[in-house]
Parts: sequence; C-alpha cells; structure tokens
Amino acid sequence: MSFKEASLILECPKCEVINYLDPFTFWNFKGKVKCAGCDAVFQYALENGKRLGPPVDAKGPHDKVPGFAQTKDWKPITTPGKVSSAPQAREDFQGKPIPIAKSKRGKPVSGKPLTADDLIGSVPKMFYTGI
Ligand SMILES: [Zn+2]
Repeated sequence: MSFKEASLILECPKCEVINYLDPFTFWNFKGKVKCAGCDAVFQYALENGKRLGPPVDAKGPHDKVPGFAQTKDWKPITTPGKVSSAPQAREDFQGKPIPIAKSKRGKPVSGKPLTADDLIGSVPKMFYTGI
C-alpha cells in the first residue's frame, strides 16, 4: 500500500496537503471531508479504518475536518476551523475535576484533594513533626 492509498491519511489531490483523519472520528465514516489546505471538499468513506475508495470531488458543506494537517514541506496546519480540536470524552469538561467527597448515595469517596486539617494525626504528619 502506497502512502497515497493509506486510509486515514488523505493527501489532497489539489494542494498536496496531507490531512490526518483521526481514528476516533473517522474509523467508520461516510461523508464529506474538507481539506485543511485549500478548503476543497471530498466525498470519502472509511470502514474499520480502511478506505472504500479514493476521495471524490464534492460540493460543501463538509461534514468533518481532519484532526491535523501538514503541508508538503512539513509545516503544520492547526488553525481552528481548518482542523478539529482533539475529541473529548466530555465536551463540557475543561480544566480540573470538581473535588467530591461524597458519592451520589451520600457515601464518602476518595479522590478529594487533602486540606491541612485532613492531615492532622496522619502518618505522614507524624513523620514530619516527629510526634
Ligand atoms: Zn487541498
């Protein structure tokens, strides 16, 4: 299999930009992909990560954009809108987890960051103070 036939790598026949289709999104896919380099839209289909045929010219709007793209001289394309952001298990989750001390049923759970008071009488504190 040559580079051009590689399934999750879509080399644009127009501008030669290499579009990397991330497996999370494109493993099973049938629809329109927009090239990150020249905004050309291609009809493309993948099944179990293998392409079902070469990209075919199509008219927009596109369904999805690649996860990452590179020009022929290895310059990355990361502009939002040209490439998609990394898929998140929870789209609404950004930043640190919310500390919880109790489960939904009201039982205490671990995983909460410790406060200074939590350490009173703990073994690490005994090592630290020597008492
Ligand atoms: Zn292109």
